[in-house]
Amino acid sequence: MPERMPYIAGNWKLWGTRAQAGEYCQKLLALLPEPSRRPAEVGVCVPFTSLEVAVKALAGSQVLVLAQNMNAEETGAYTGEISAQMLLELGADGVVLGHSERREHNGETDRALQEKVPAALEAGLRPILCVGESEEEREAGDMERKLRHQVGEGLHEVPDERIADVVVAYEPIWAIGTGQVATADQAQEAIAFVRALVGGRTEEAAQAIRLLYGGSVKPENAAEILAQTDVDGALVGGGSLDPEGFARIVAAAG
Ligand code: PEP
Repeated sequence: MPERMPYIAGNWKLWGTRAQAGEYCQKLLALLPEPSRRPAEVGVCVPFTSLEVAVKALAGSQVLVLAQNMNAEETGAYTGEISAQMLLELGADGVVLGHSERREHNGETDRALQEKVPAALEAGLRPILCVGESEEEREAGDMERKLRHQVGEGLHEVPDERIADVVVAYEPIWAIGTGQVATADQAQEAIAFVRALVGGRTEEAAQAIRLLYGGSVKPENAAEILAQTDVDGALVGGGSLDPEGFARIVAAAG
């Protein structure tokens, strides 16, 4: 079975002027152990305007810098959009795709993600694909149906040999920004289900792909969730805005 390196990514959402981004990165670096002693790969998902600052501040630190969205097209009549090539030019390592906030507020669709995920990979960006059910869907017993649909669509155009290069974050919508964290059992159950879905494509990819939990992860609850067999890390929103707390979540992966 392949060793899966834990991955902790901080999603700043709509936070961080360039000045704040630079300051944050300096503080985080001072708090993280040397790359060889880190218990997890670490990434920060920053607004477009702070990408360049974060890339410069984190150069040589092995902390990944990710954008929070991109368009699948390289160029064209898409006002306000950013391509994978533009992100690469700024030095981004990856991109978050299909975050539930973009699905809710910006009309992000599974159809668009079907193009975005392979486009990111082909360009050389490492995508984090977000999936997860709403409270109503969970209560109606629809969690598995929702995950099957989102994972199926998001990975549909990704060739089997590239599936393990995608990271999937299971983020139940009812747990995002609410303080209502999923129990460790709920996180394990849903993420094991996502792994089984990937296994429906290839068993090799299912064993290698990294699957994260996201939803109100804090230093206080991180260790229990990260200890679950199928949970390979966390996508952390609000809890990542304090570099000290974020560094403690990284330490909890050890
Ligand atoms: C997120 O932004 O992906 C997230 C999980 O947010 P929070 O940790 O604040 O719930």
